[in-house]
Amino acid sequence: MTIEAFDVLVIGAGLSGIGAVWRLQQQCPGHRYAVLEARADLGGTWDLFRYPGIRSDSDMFTLSYPFRPWQGEASIADGASIARYLHDTARAGGIDQHIRFNQRVLAAAWDSTLRLWTLQVSADGEPRQYQCSFLYLCCGYYDYARGYRPAFPDEHRFSGRWVHPQQWPDDLDWRDRQVVVIGSGATAVTLVPALAKAARQVTLLQRSPSYVLALPARDPLANALRRCLPTRWAGSLARWKNALAGLALFQLCRRLPSLSRRLLRLRVAGALPKGYAVDTHFNPRYAPWDQRLCIVPDGDLFKALASGKARVVTDTVASVEPDGLRLASGTHLAADIIVTATGLTLQACGGMALSVDGRHVDLGQCVAYQGLLLDGVPNLAFCVGYTNASWTLRADLSSRQVCRLLNHMRRHGYHQCRPRLDGPAGERRPLLDLHASYVLRALDGLPKQGARAPWLLRQNYLLDYLFFCLGRVEHPALEFS
Ligand SMILES: Cc1cc2nc3c(=O)[nH]c(=O)nc-3n(C[C@H](O)[C@H](O)[C@H](O)COP(=O)(O)OP(=O)(O)OC[C@H]3O[C@@H](n4cnc5c(N)ncnc54)[C@H](O)[C@@H]3O)c2cc1C
Repeated sequence: MTIEAFDVLVIGAGLSGIGAVWRLQQQCPGHRYAVLEARADLGGTWDLFRYPGIRSDSDMFTLSYPFRPWQGEASIADGASIARYLHDTARAGGIDQHIRFNQRVLAAAWDSTLRLWTLQVSADGEPRQYQCSFLYLCCGYYDYARGYRPAFPDEHRFSGRWVHPQQWPDDLDWRDRQVVVIGSGATAVTLVPALAKAARQVTLLQRSPSYVLALPARDPLANALRRCLPTRWAGSLARWKNALAGLALFQLCRRLPSLSRRLLRLRVAGALPKGYAVDTHFNPRYAPWDQRLCIVPDGDLFKALASGKARVVTDTVASVEPDGLRLASGTHLAADIIVTATGLTLQACGGMALSVDGRHVDLGQCVAYQGLLLDGVPNLAFCVGYTNASWTLRADLSSRQVCRLLNHMRRHGYHQCRPRLDGPAGERRPLLDLHASYVLRALDGLPKQGARAPWLLRQNYLLDYLFFCLGRVEHPALEFS
């Protein structure tokens, strides 16, 4: 078997992988690279999810790349527009030429003698190997094969259709049907108004409420900037404006939880019909930003509730019946279709098995250096975005830092870079600092972060920007050889 070798292999052709290649092309033109993508198309999340209403829940001025500002009129964009933007970016940068599709990486093994990673890949179902000096994992954070779907008592008795948003069936017809959407996260609040346009009735069934914040789907200030400034400047100003506004909201929520809870509740109450049970359905038990805020563009969820076509029920499923759900309160919810918007199954490093010199790497025991490299694992970086802001803001900084690291190694003739956790990193915490149940379920298998730099993953774009762009690459915790 011939083994193709590269300087850098990027795994995944989603938003992060495409951005990574753009940065590699600009900042590391001397490096040979390719992208291995498990699926038949690029786009990752924005190609996989096809449920009605799929859209961003962060603004596109921060979700788009700094090097290719968003040109669309809407700042909260639908999934198809985001997928198109990623395709256009890949084409414009010649990135698509470097993507090998249908290449699922199953395992990656580092050999310190060869100073190479050898990858075991399923290529169109056939075994294949690749080698590279540096591996950059842009695999996202969840399992594409299966979303999270809890079992419900007597679920086999349901005579209608069960649907998971991660595998939305093309042939599903919900016109004039009664639909129950189980869940309370971003997907559930997106689906409800979209389905309510044609369904007879849509019920959002949640065990407990989430924070929901209505934002304008268009950003008048950003659109005005674009009318009077060159695209690049306007894009940059709009990105910083929104990144800093998001950061300010996050800091307010974390530092003054009681005040921010009251403000968020006030906004929801103002958007709902008079007398609506705001505290039952929209006043969560947890503090703001313990879990991601759900954004609804132009208050579409509240409009659907006001129209009577949609409703929220806060209760738990006691059992499934042929024509719907029996709830713990005894209420019966009639349903023709039940959508389980119950979340993702988190997965680190694209589900691949990693080993270093024959030793298996237990990802759950690894601590991440700058939320980018793994303690004890040479020449490997992974890309993870913010949980409190647009993914791209951090993903792009990560890719720039990887380029700086690659250039630093080449300049100094280093072949290997390995973070070493010798000193104190402080208390170990989950890398994804959210208390959402989909994160809590996966904690054991995910890398950790420490309590202090450089083992800390900050949720702060401003500090990260300064640190990643101006900070030194060398650090006592980084061992170069
Ligand atoms: C429904 C939904 C809505 C979201 N909305 C937002 C939002 O509005 N704002 C925001 O900031 N974030 C949002 N996110 C988070 C979102 O995942 C990120 O915005 C972003 O798309 C992540 O990009 P990525 O390239 O890192 O990962 P993905 O988009 O997940 O892409 C990863 C790619 O890697 C490939 N891959 C994985 N494992 C392997 C392997 N072993 N071998 C080869 N290829 C592999 C996959 O096939 C995929 O193409 C949303 C997520 C979901 C699920």
